[in-house]
Amino acid sequence: MSTPHPDTYLDAPDTGVAADCAHCDAVCCRLTVVVQPEDRIPGHLLEERDGLTVMARDEEGWCVALDGARMCCSIYEGRPEVCRRFAMDGPYCRAIRTDYTERRARGIELILH
Ligand code: SF4
Ligand code: SF4
Repeated sequence: MSTPHPDTYLDAPDTGVAADCAHCDAVCCRLTVVVQPEDRIPGHLLEERDGLTVMARDEEGWCVALDGARMCCSIYEGRPEVCRRFAMDGPYCRAIRTDYTERRARGIELILH
């Protein structure tokens, strides 16, 4: 991923509340997701960015594979490996949720890189 290494966020404040996908705006689905050759992702969901094949994002920053009505992955069974490895309530999950919440509260642009 071209996202910062998860260790970058280990010092993020811990709210003490467990992160839960059911109560989240799918924040991780706003990150750059680099697709590997072994991933089998339909071409219309992909784009090239900085020389990498990544999941395309819509104009609001969400991965185009996100089912916005249900806030879940529409290709869950075939999602990229990097998405499979993303740990709910892990340090990176908690950190990006904190960042997202703070940006929203302050009206800062929400695109995550
Ligand atoms: S893994 Fe974390 S950031 Fe992603 S949807 Fe679940 S709670 Fe939200
Ligand atoms: S492929 Fe699915 S899990 Fe991965 S970022 Fe897109 S919507 Fe989220």
